[in-house]
Amino acid sequence: MLEEVTVLAPATVANLVCGFDILGLALEEPCDKLTIRKTRRGIRIINLDGYNLPLEPEKNVIGGALLAMLEETREEIGFEIESTKVIKPGSGIGSSAASAAGAVIAANHLLKQPFSTSDLIRFAMCGEQVASGAKHADNIAPAIMGGVTLIRSSFPLDIIGIPAPPLFVTILHPQIEIKTSNAREILKKEILLKDAAIQWGNVAGLVAGLMKGDYELISRSLVDVIVEPIRSILIPGFDLVKTVSLETGALGGGISGSGPSVFMLSHDLVTARKVEAAIIQAYSGLNIDFHTHVSTINNQGVRFI
Ligand code: ADP
Repeated sequence: MLEEVTVLAPATVANLVCGFDILGLALEEPCDKLTIRKTRRGIRIINLDGYNLPLEPEKNVIGGALLAMLEETREEIGFEIESTKVIKPGSGIGSSAASAAGAVIAANHLLKQPFSTSDLIRFAMCGEQVASGAKHADNIAPAIMGGVTLIRSSFPLDIIGIPAPPLFVTILHPQIEIKTSNAREILKKEILLKDAAIQWGNVAGLVAGLMKGDYELISRSLVDVIVEPIRSILIPGFDLVKTVSLETGALGGGISGSGPSVFMLSHDLVTARKVEAAIIQAYSGLNIDFHTHVSTINNQGVRFI
């Protein structure tokens, strides 16, 4: 009987420009590593990194997700989880979602797969509730399913995988803190109908462009007239980063999740690396520490090693 399993759970980009709260994608790198063992009862979390995340199951997204799963299992069991986080918490590339997604996929495997993908997303959303107070699926869905995902509805859950052509992602992570709650509070509660029409035209254009592999259409649909103009003021140098990225050949991009990370999509690896170099040059003048990296899209989601 299989008693232990190790998985790699990927970082994700949520709020894909015009797709606020509904479109996300999984990255090949970075990934968190989780090893999970069956035990007789309870949940024990062991942190093998320097992030000092809470060990109490109710305060860690791993625990939040697994407690939701255990409530629906008939077996009298528990789990011990060794967590090695590589994705920095609060960076805006789905650190908490990676923990929750990795935990539920690994635990389901140890239980011999009683739960559907939709169940696993539901459990992992309970983990996200521990991190942010809300059961959102925009990072969870791509982390579990891989590729680009559309959340057509969260309650009831209706998630669709969107086929996409090869895309390369350049990530800028300024070392500043943006609280998700602040990033939400500053958003307008009401929007103009004319802005809504522009936005849903772009969302439809982006989905069509991804499915047709039409990079031109993807590029001209990567426009957000509702959230980005407000949220980008929280990210120093955002407009500069976007301008130099587009000048260097990026298809487009925006704020990853609620920031502070920024992402840019490119058609090929060479362009994505040139975009990275242009961002590094532009951001070096700002007196803010930052990291950058380039990744492809991860079409598999959480994987076993
Ligand atoms: P991100 O978009 O990087 O996931 P969030 O703000 O959504 O950032 O989540 C990070 C918050 O969740 C931090 O306050 C962190 O302490 C808390 N947290 C609890 N457990 C975990 C975990 N296993 N992994 C990451 N963050 C966790």
